[in-house]
Amino acid sequence: MLRTTIAGSLPKPGWLAETEKLWPAWRLEGKALEEAKRDAILAALKMQETAGIDIITDGEMPRQHFVHGFLEKVSGIDFQNRQTIGIRNDRYKAVCPTVTGPIKRAGSVHGEEVRWARANTKNKLKFTLPGPMTIVDTLADDHYKDRGKMAMAFAEALNEEAKDLDAAGVDVIQFDEPAFNVYGDEVAEWGVAALERAAKGLKATTAVHICYGYGIKANTDWKATLGTQWRQYESVFPLLAKSSIQQVSLEAIHSKVPLELIGLLEGKDVLAGAIDVASNTVETPEEVAAAIKAAMKYVAPEKLFPCTNCGMAPMPRDVAAAKLKALAAGAALVRKELGR
Ligand code: ZN
Repeated sequence: MLRTTIAGSLPKPGWLAETEKLWPAWRLEGKALEEAKRDAILAALKMQETAGIDIITDGEMPRQHFVHGFLEKVSGIDFQNRQTIGIRNDRYKAVCPTVTGPIKRAGSVHGEEVRWARANTKNKLKFTLPGPMTIVDTLADDHYKDRGKMAMAFAEALNEEAKDLDAAGVDVIQFDEPAFNVYGDEVAEWGVAALERAAKGLKATTAVHICYGYGIKANTDWKATLGTQWRQYESVFPLLAKSSIQQVSLEAIHSKVPLELIGLLEGKDVLAGAIDVASNTVETPEEVAAAIKAAMKYVAPEKLFPCTNCGMAPMPRDVAAAKLKALAAGAALVRKELGR
């Protein structure tokens, strides 16, 4: 019970890439870069094991950005043809590649990374992929001209990839769908259907992560406009409760999400954020324990997985390491109180 995990990403070491950036440039190239990425995966696994995290990830070390890592080996996308588009309902501008033809996975994208991580930890291993709606929202499109259709094409490519990762022995496959908090109507129309298509037929536990984003200025400015209660989950969770997806990762600590919305996820595993990624202040184990106990009012400890609110990619590395320790220590405190 109360097994700990993280949303996905960890800060990249300074010898691998620029630090504290969302789209960091690599410090190396060619074979040296490939070796450095593998070393960075080892460091990420070790950081989580040392902290005492139960279900760990590769820290998303080999990818420059959580969406575009997958896209780099998908045909139908022109990476030279970059357009500046407004993403997340125009919350911020991003320079994005353009879809110019039918989407097709050109080959294994993350297989080697997963085999490397799997061979180097005995912990349960989670791997994250971008969700179809979030991918669609992070690309310019000159081909499909229909977001739902384009999402389904990506869902099929993601499913091929997920099946490979499944075969490589990953325990949890998580799709990141921050866009679900932005496009409520489209989530109902095609978002959940595309997500289920991406997760179809997997042996691994399936998860979706929905959040209010990294602690970057565009996101904190947006959050300031959302009022005293953030109720975006209210329309999305009932749809997920009816879906085949088994776990839902959500933002909780230091957010304005009313925690009773967790009650809408009946039957699902809940990965509740007990670590704030928008602040460099390290939580105390007691604060983490309080966040866990607040969530436990709405979900049984057997189905609750203390987690981070979101990815930690843009944080200082030592802060992330300290926060992981606080997460594990906080969960241990609650387990002890419960006498287990
Ligand atoms: Zn997130």
